[in-house]
Amino acid sequence: MRPSKLFSYRTTERNFIGVKFDIPKYIVRKFSLNIFRRKMQELRFDGRVVVVTGAGAGLGRTYALLFASRGASVVVNDLGSNKHGDGSSTKSADAVVEEIRQNGGKAVANYDSVLDGEKIIKTAIDSFGRIDVVVNNAGILRDTSFAKMTEDKWDIIHNIHLKGAMKTTQAAWPYFIKQKYGRIIFTSSNSGLYGNFGQSNYSSAKLGLVGLTNTLAVEGSTKNIYTNVIVPTAGSRLTEDIIPPDFFEQLKPELIAPVVFWLCHEDCTENGSMIETALGWAGKCHIIRSAGCVLRQNLSVDVTPETVRENWLKITDMTSAKRFNSIQEVTTELFGVLERMKSGASLNDVDHILKNDYNFRDIILYALGVGATIQEPNDIRYLYENADEFSVLPTFFVLYGPMGCMNSSIVQDAVPFTFNPTQVLHGEQYLEIHKRLPTEATVETRFKIQDILDKGKGTVVLIQHDTYDVTTGEKLSSGQMSAFIVGSGFKGKRTSTFVIPTIDPPTRKPDVTVTQKTSDDQAALYRLSGDFNPLHIDTAVAMMGGFKKPILHGLCSLGFSIRHVLQTYAAGDAHLFKSIKVRFAKPVIPGQTLRTDMWRNGNRIHFQTSIHETGVPVITGAYVDLLEIKMGLPQANLCSAKTNLDSDAIFVTISEQVKQNQDEAKKVNAVFLYNITVDGKHISEWTLDLKNGEVHKGKPKSGKADATLTLEDKDMVEIGLGKLNPQLAFMRGKLKITGNIMLAQKLKSLMETNKAKL
Ligand code: NAD
Repeated sequence: MRPSKLFSYRTTERNFIGVKFDIPKYIVRKFSLNIFRRKMQELRFDGRVVVVTGAGAGLGRTYALLFASRGASVVVNDLGSNKHGDGSSTKSADAVVEEIRQNGGKAVANYDSVLDGEKIIKTAIDSFGRIDVVVNNAGILRDTSFAKMTEDKWDIIHNIHLKGAMKTTQAAWPYFIKQKYGRIIFTSSNSGLYGNFGQSNYSSAKLGLVGLTNTLAVEGSTKNIYTNVIVPTAGSRLTEDIIPPDFFEQLKPELIAPVVFWLCHEDCTENGSMIETALGWAGKCHIIRSAGCVLRQNLSVDVTPETVRENWLKITDMTSAKRFNSIQEVTTELFGVLERMKSGASLNDVDHILKNDYNFRDIILYALGVGATIQEPNDIRYLYENADEFSVLPTFFVLYGPMGCMNSSIVQDAVPFTFNPTQVLHGEQYLEIHKRLPTEATVETRFKIQDILDKGKGTVVLIQHDTYDVTTGEKLSSGQMSAFIVGSGFKGKRTSTFVIPTIDPPTRKPDVTVTQKTSDDQAALYRLSGDFNPLHIDTAVAMMGGFKKPILHGLCSLGFSIRHVLQTYAAGDAHLFKSIKVRFAKPVIPGQTLRTDMWRNGNRIHFQTSIHETGVPVITGAYVDLLEIKMGLPQANLCSAKTNLDSDAIFVTISEQVKQNQDEAKKVNAVFLYNITVDGKHISEWTLDLKNGEVHKGKPKSGKADATLTLEDKDMVEIGLGKLNPQLAFMRGKLKITGNIMLAQKLKSLMETNKAKL
């Protein structure tokens, strides 16, 4: 069937490829655009001058060919020796230059040894006037076991690989500095990274190149000079007698050239990296270090060989190994150790380590587990990975506390008695977030027993749990969990300086209250985030713990509360969260309604969570510290939000006043609607119905107000207290009036009579 006339369009592409059919216009446009884009995106080296050492064969040859095919002028350096470094010949370099020229490229040969690096760079300057890229690739082998290693074999390998690379690069360096641009590649080897029999000379020289890279990366970074190491595996004359033929065949050097090419491109900002590549695969290598172990508790204690022996497993435990990005990071960490030694703080750092990966599925599952719903617009950012501002609810990170304790024996190991695990309760929890939380990460949580306290009716174990991003090494969160072991017999101290205290809320009525019903399956859903304690799903286990039914996880109630706080005081923005502290007072049964009462004190939001049906407080002494306040309220049907603002007291007093002065009030004979805002956000409304002599929260029952007054909660309080003149407030724009402004004038006397009452 022919396409409709609308899309009928004969294209030049059709003529070119000789196929006779009509192509819709929009496809032609898209097709042409794609070609255009691809052309735009092609990586080019036009105007750039590249030196490749040892480019007469193997890997170097493929690099030279690729650079030249993308517009570079190439110096093809090769001494033309055999693979042991004996002899010399111009043939191999000439052959590559010839090949480049035949393909329309620009190249010159250079036959010097890399030990005469300045001559190679001179060739670039004399022939092409500049130098932009140096690929240090030349190399030979002189393999022998270490027992038979001679100084000659050692020196020639170190000279050609390490000194030669240094000499060539150093000759180019002043040009790079002057033009504020340069790209350098050194060629290392898995033999250097991991060792290889018979290659002590080669492997040490190859790892020396990694050290050289690290330093040049530091020295060049501010001058747009980037240095990287390539770790190739390729079929060449160096490997032909050690790699099996089938495998050798697949290890084509051409598959490595594009990786080197990209690392040398001006768009590539990689610097100081080790890139391993073979077979059309590439990856980055890191040097990592274990968390280690402090071998003395303070500066006055000496380290003995026995201490080292006793701690050897901890010193060499790589489960929490991390990468340092600079020597400054290493030094900073050492300063931290010194400070702690000076203060005598507990040093031996980690009692347990938990590793975890999370991605968008885990984040969304957690959010659902703590009551996030698509009915609440502010929750979408926690439920949909493509949403603007898709984010992790910060309390996702408290999950790691109980997970680590359940997956290890750290609590049991900490106390001098055995206990029944069903008798361990989550007493208190603190969490602080240090970084913007990634939506996908590999994290490691390090656990440390901070203290053990005798609480009479039980024992409290204080556990610090800090979570790190394994890739960046950055600390994402700090946590403190207190595990309460019911009815245990332990005589010890009652308090600890490590305890992060709870704080009771103000005595006034809550400023805002949000309620939300949990579902009967709330605990069943929440546990999938990783807290698999059967107490929350298995009736028999719950009964053993003294409960009639499985109870909701305390941290699940915590998750509901933090959502309510964030929705109310951070407009749902998780990035404004700094920290939270709570005490778990009583259990919740799935299906009950949670009520979060909140009080604002600056950037601190005190809250208490209760079971709405019974009024029993379940989370007490709690607060959230926010980085900034952004008012908002939950809007979903599932949640109901009720605000109690300071101005409520004013309206209550006005109400009394109106009741007592009905005649005077009715003389005004008008209905007023007050819109009360906090930080510009509409939070509450009150009606002064002076036709019927009543004052109530909400909109006028008649549906219509004669005048609407909009003002901030604090300004309403100021007016009520007589500290702010309403007319002045109006003039200054603090009080906005719509409808019959003249009627509003009549309110003045009524407002002022309240002063005495307040
Ligand atoms: P290759 O022998 O095919 O190429 C090396 C080239 O360097 C030769 O053409 C040689 O004539 C030249 N050369 C030797 N000494 C020189 C000198 N003093 N001055 C200038 N040129 C000199 O070897 P290849 O496998 O292509 O190796 C290239 C580089 O990659 C070497 O540094 C090697 O150590 C390294 N490497 C190779 C492998 C692999 O699997 N092939 C693995 C790890 C590292």
